[in-house]
Amino acid sequence: MDMRQLPDISDNEHCPSDRSSDANETNSDYEGTSSVPQRFNQNELNDLTRDLNLSKKAAEVLASRLNDKNLLEQGTKITFYRTREKDMLPFFSQEDNLVFCHEIRGLMKEMGLSEYIPDDWRLFIDSSKRSLKCVLLHNGKKIGSIPLAHSTKLKEEYNTIALVLQKIKYHEHQWLICVDLKMVNFLLGQQSGYTKYPCFLCLWDSRDKTHHWVRKDWPLRENMDVGEKNVINDALVEREKIILPPLHIKLGLMKQFVKALDKDGPCFEYIGVKMPQLSTEKLKAGIFDGPQIRQLIKDPAFINSMNEVEREAWTSFVAVVENFLGKHKAENYVEIVNKMLNSFKSLGCNMSIKVHYLDSHLDRFPENLGDMSEEQGERFHQDIKIMEDRYQGRWDIHMMADYCWSLKRDSILNAYFNAN
Ligand SMILES: [Zn+2]
Repeated sequence: MDMRQLPDISDNEHCPSDRSSDANETNSDYEGTSSVPQRFNQNELNDLTRDLNLSKKAAEVLASRLNDKNLLEQGTKITFYRTREKDMLPFFSQEDNLVFCHEIRGLMKEMGLSEYIPDDWRLFIDSSKRSLKCVLLHNGKKIGSIPLAHSTKLKEEYNTIALVLQKIKYHEHQWLICVDLKMVNFLLGQQSGYTKYPCFLCLWDSRDKTHHWVRKDWPLRENMDVGEKNVINDALVEREKIILPPLHIKLGLMKQFVKALDKDGPCFEYIGVKMPQLSTEKLKAGIFDGPQIRQLIKDPAFINSMNEVEREAWTSFVAVVENFLGKHKAENYVEIVNKMLNSFKSLGCNMSIKVHYLDSHLDRFPENLGDMSEEQGERFHQDIKIMEDRYQGRWDIHMMADYCWSLKRDSILNAYFNAN
């Protein structure tokens, strides 16, 4: 390779589908040995300089050194990562602590999605102590999360969400919204925390424990009038747009199951031994994530640690996860859910708001729950983590545009179009 070509800075990168396939075509002298170095191809070098957040100069030094050791594929050039996203950049804006996409149709088109239908997409919103993130996920197709907005949290959460929805022009798209129940409260202007009337569909009384597990039908909530029944702000979206989130329902069921276990019994003890990474506080509070629940579901020894009532509750919970909350919705799901509710009652579980949704609003879960399954919720969290790791917590228009650029390049969208 000619060394002099290395300092070439090209703004335009060859993409998307010509990802070099000859990474394995190594020098034949060494063929078959396991210690053959694999050379960086163009895309790998680009990702590396971006992941390291290197300056243009540093990226050139790195490439030069790699080239000295013959670790670059023929013709690989330094492409300065800050410019490769430039085609996506016009669709993003930044105002104070908020970065957002102001032109979603244009972005979709630039990403190769010429046929953008708002109903095919779900809006996911995640709020943590530090930030608020919005992404779009395609309903049912394997397309990565498209980042729409990121805000460093301002003081008043309701106002932050209102501002974000306004900036991404939610009213023009009216996507269905998949969020945790805390966020549902904010979106609908409900008081947060432990309130008397937390349900946005009916006037279920969370404090009337004598009627929990007994009464299924509660007076419907006719409206969301400010000042009444724990509603303190105007709703930001229509109630009909809210999807009861399968992943969070699952986590909520797990929580009630674990909290009802005998804390001195072998079943509870087993979880502690099996998952030493789980803190005692989390264990007692029943706070698990998706992978941890899957691990227990797959573990035959877990069931053996249970008494009969616990086993009934656990197996019926697993049945709900597998036949209702996941991709597959069984025809007799009503029966399966009711069986679980009965066994949870027998175990002495509390009726939480999430259990209440299953108990009283099973008809409110979308028909095609499979497309909006709990897996989709997990996908969202994974994608967010990838973004966080890749850009080391940096959120600006370049980062969002770059991520969209990489989605396009990774040909997830291309695969989608080729398949259709
Ligand atoms: Zn209700």
